[in-house]
Amino acid sequence: MTSAARKLLVTSALPYANGSIHLGHLVEYIQTDIWVRFQKMQGHTVHYVCADDTHGTPIMLRAEKEGITPEALIAKVHAEHSQDFAEFLVDFDNYYSTNSEENRELASNIYKALKANGKIASKTIEQYFDPVKNMFLPDRFIKGECPKCHAKDQYGDNCEVCGATYSPTDLINPFSAVSGATPVRKETEHYFFKLSECADFLRDWTRAGHLQAEAANKMTEWVGEVGENKLSDWDISRDAPYFGFEIPDAPGKYFYVWLDAPIGYMASFKNLCAKNGLDFDEYWKKDSTTELYHFIGKDILYFHALFWPATLEYSGHRTPTSVFAHGFLTVNGEKMSKSRGTFITARSYLDHIKNPEYLRYYYAAKLNGSMEDIDLNLEDFVARVNSDLVGKYINIASRTAGFINKRFDGVLAPSANNQAVTELLSASSSIAEAYAARDFGKALREIMRLSDIANGFVADKAPWVMAKQEGQDEALQQVCSDALEMFRLLTLYLKPVLPKLAQQIEQFLNVAPLSWSTDALSLSAGHRIHAYEHLITRIDPKQIEAMTEANKENLTPTPAPVKTVAPTITASNDVGEGAYISIDDFTKIDLRIAKIVNAEHVEGAEKLLKLTLDIGEEKTRQVFAGIKSAYDPETLKGRLTVMVANLAPRKMKFGMSEGMVLAASDESGGPFILSPDVGAQSGMRVK
Ligand SMILES: [Zn+2]
Repeated sequence: MTSAARKLLVTSALPYANGSIHLGHLVEYIQTDIWVRFQKMQGHTVHYVCADDTHGTPIMLRAEKEGITPEALIAKVHAEHSQDFAEFLVDFDNYYSTNSEENRELASNIYKALKANGKIASKTIEQYFDPVKNMFLPDRFIKGECPKCHAKDQYGDNCEVCGATYSPTDLINPFSAVSGATPVRKETEHYFFKLSECADFLRDWTRAGHLQAEAANKMTEWVGEVGENKLSDWDISRDAPYFGFEIPDAPGKYFYVWLDAPIGYMASFKNLCAKNGLDFDEYWKKDSTTELYHFIGKDILYFHALFWPATLEYSGHRTPTSVFAHGFLTVNGEKMSKSRGTFITARSYLDHIKNPEYLRYYYAAKLNGSMEDIDLNLEDFVARVNSDLVGKYINIASRTAGFINKRFDGVLAPSANNQAVTELLSASSSIAEAYAARDFGKALREIMRLSDIANGFVADKAPWVMAKQEGQDEALQQVCSDALEMFRLLTLYLKPVLPKLAQQIEQFLNVAPLSWSTDALSLSAGHRIHAYEHLITRIDPKQIEAMTEANKENLTPTPAPVKTVAPTITASNDVGEGAYISIDDFTKIDLRIAKIVNAEHVEGAEKLLKLTLDIGEEKTRQVFAGIKSAYDPETLKGRLTVMVANLAPRKMKFGMSEGMVLAASDESGGPFILSPDVGAQSGMRVK
């Protein structure tokens, strides 16, 4: 499946040059890299660029603290980031820096074009100022007492203890995190991009197919309908002292990161053009026929789906073909946590697990092109890698290659009309479609189904039995050759995800680099393979343990209690928290796996969703659950959860509630409904 050659420019979001790459970051770089490798294997021209985002107050202050220049700090971080990405096989065509001459020039030119277009305004605003350090303070650098829970030493934008968000003016006894001084309010002139004047353009643009449906809906909300004016002008300047680019014609004023960071995509590409003789304008001019794709996290959608296209449009450039947003990473179902040892850096993973392709495979299996969060369940990670990659995929070669090497001097039999091989071959275009749609999970499910077919073929023919029988030589050679042909096809299909392993296998099979245009070319008769060497090993769960141990900052976890969220229930509280109950008390509760067959809003109910649950009984149950704030009913349909099945039915304003679903929450978030592991069935007892 190769369509006409296209020209694609692809980016991942720029990591901030103030910290290490961790497993949360890697979701996006791995996702983008797989997609880029797939597009390249299709024969398209693809340029994949990125850069470190290097400007801003945090970098300036950290450099000062370390006693080095900001330039020295960002050079150090650039080297570290580049190394991490290279080891995770994220193959940028250029990995640059926003602190570059190309970026300075592009940012200035874009600013001037926006100004000439009447899209820049200046306004006097009031900001917190540190009178000792003589600088304006970003929200993160103002601390004080939380106005809600009165925890001391909390940041100016949110409280890490109770999770409240507020503005720095709400803090009790605010102080500067830089000098400790009490900040004062001070007036200053800031420059703004008049985003509010771009509503008509953005209303059309966000609905023109550039965004995922869920993102487009959100943007429609943010932009507002015709006549509504929901967009605010965007502050694009900061005052000296600041590490960044000074605004032309405005001495002492600097571009805020959100202006120069996305322009960093262009600057990185411009730098690549200078190295490779590419035509920069061909990709960025207004009527460009090339394609531009940005992979981002859903947290920066506002900037990439509103601010950035408007900036491009009104400075005379093309706008993105698509913006692809992904969700966040959770580890073992929770936010990455230093206390649980699940805040894992790229380096720490490499130190303990070694093989980066295992993580690439697991992330790919979980990614489906939507904005849903993905979970790295460490137990499931070990099980899936060991079962899919070692147990299924590699097994095909390890059970057959030896016979070809030893008995037939490495020479393959001519390809026969084998039905299993044909089936693997015919899946090529559906797998390609899934990759193109970023539904990597679907592609891998299909590839594992094909691996099962190949293994079934080998098990059925049992070459190890044939090898002991007289007169079976020709048949043995044929079976093993067919199996290796299937192994070659599976390797091609997995190559975007496992590029390094694929390269080793290309050497073993003695073939040219596999690409989608070669899928139909089978190994020819008389083709000679090289000796098979063991390719990958199982992950030992002890490696995972060592990794999480090494990442634990302290050992006092604060588990979120599992609470019920059915608002109708007030448990009789004989049992104080912390007291024990007997096993008999516990077994009185009939907990069942329930399938949510339907979920819907309840007219007039602010907090409730109406759930229809299948617990393997003849009739479904109806339950009202107080989870409306956290879940879109559409996303619940088909999910499994856990319910209390023997709770006395209760008549509510909206109807009978025949049980209760379980969910976790505390002040910092929730509710989060529970999900059983894969394999659980409706009606199973939970005990
Ligand atoms: Zn608080």
